[in-house]
Amino acid sequence: MFQTLDLTTLLLCSMLSSTAFGLVFAGLWRARRADRYLLHWSASSLLYAVVLISFQLLRVEAVPADSPLFSLLYGLFGLTNVLVVSGLRALSGRRPFAGWMLAPILTSASGHALPVIALSFFPAMPASVLPAGETAGLAIAMAMTGCVVLFGPGGRSWTGQRITALALLGYLPGYAIAFAGEIGFSPSVNLVALIPMLSDQLLLGVLNLGLLAIPAERAQARLREAARRDPLTGTWNRAGLDAAAHGLLVRGGAVVAIDIDHFKLINDRRGHAAGDDALVTLARLAVGLAERFGGEIARVGGDEFIAMLPHASGEQARAFADQLQIVLHAQASRLGWTISIGIATIAAGETSLEASLRRADESLYRAKALGRNRVAA
Ligand code: GH3
Ligand code: MG
Repeated sequence: MFQTLDLTTLLLCSMLSSTAFGLVFAGLWRARRADRYLLHWSASSLLYAVVLISFQLLRVEAVPADSPLFSLLYGLFGLTNVLVVSGLRALSGRRPFAGWMLAPILTSASGHALPVIALSFFPAMPASVLPAGETAGLAIAMAMTGCVVLFGPGGRSWTGQRITALALLGYLPGYAIAFAGEIGFSPSVNLVALIPMLSDQLLLGVLNLGLLAIPAERAQARLREAARRDPLTGTWNRAGLDAAAHGLLVRGGAVVAIDIDHFKLINDRRGHAAGDDALVTLARLAVGLAERFGGEIARVGGDEFIAMLPHASGEQARAFADQLQIVLHAQASRLGWTISIGIATIAAGETSLEASLRRADESLYRAKALGRNRVAA
């Protein structure tokens, strides 16, 4: 079956499909210019097509195998991988390029250049050192970028990114077979040359479709995150609290309800913006304090917040509430408002937050009924 395949056709197929991906990324970038990572991926695909066609041209023109033009092309080949990484870095808000990125470029270029230099000094060396060096250079550069992509070049690791990483690393078996053939371990020279180009037909698609999946994944994650956050204070909203409930339902953990006293009066007397300021201030102070207790804050009503302190004992929950009151009292003259706090404890066997939230609310109402500006447990 492989006998009917020829290298030129496969190369042309790779070039065409890489061009297609490059154009798709460029088209997406034209529609969303802020998403510069698309430009990196477009450049990567289009450059790959240019490199492939240039290899073919050099071959047609019978340029000698030791020409430095080949080193240049191998270096550009390394750059196509680097552009995948720089796009991922741009996507995660980091500076796209870093010094280490020269390594894959230089490695793939020196896979050709070093054997050429070695052969010029030691002409008795077997000529196969050149193709073997080229393959080894490509493989090392591919392994480098594949590992970087796999372990995430910035923050979050998307599924599409892992697919791309596996595609990059998927080139290695093909290179290994080619390398074995070049140093004389394989009976079929034709097959050895064909295998990397054959795997390219599969892996090029996998690599680029993996990249293409990332923007949609990211948009979905952003929507999910936005749906779970209160836009004014940046704390979780009720949906966020429910989504995290599983990890927060720890027996003996504390649920603390926090509510501004006479909040309506702040709105009425000083305006809605002052009311918003009060909410933001309370959220900021509560989040800072909750972090120290290993907890989280959610805004569950107009002026009501819940602090989930899964690892706090009753005493620690009380300390949290008292410290929040102290911080606010210290600024009371400036703020001109107070809060009431109700504390409840998560009981054994509770499978939803409903019951403990209700008990925290009951404590809160008690604090309000006792005259506000206090803590009730
Ligand atoms: P209490 O001491 O009993 O808690 O009295 P209160 O005035 O605080 O009463 P309540 O908690 O019922 O008041 C909530 C008010 O919060 C009602 C609503 O107008 C206002 N509110 C709800 N959401 C917002 C918001 O996003 N911004 C502002 N400024 N006000 C809001
Ligand atoms: Mg209130």
